[in-house]
Amino acid sequence: MAWCDACDRYLTPSSLDEDGTCPGCDSGDVLVEVPEMPHTPWHFKLLVVLAGGYLLWRSVFGVIWLFERLG
Ligand SMILES: [Zn+2]
Repeated sequence: MAWCDACDRYLTPSSLDEDGTCPGCDSGDVLVEVPEMPHTPWHFKLLVVLAGGYLLWRSVFGVIWLFERLG
């Protein structure tokens, strides 16, 4: 739901104009942002890469430790 201050009423998203403005007045205020396509932020990708690299790095030492114990 969106609230238009100029009209003093609630508007459903489907009743808004295509650009998200109120169809009942000329305020031009965007009441509901037009939803963007969901995308993964770059810092999340970086975190995944770093976490994966860390786990890989640790697993290398884990295998070395295992072989040392066995040998
Ligand atoms: Zn309005």
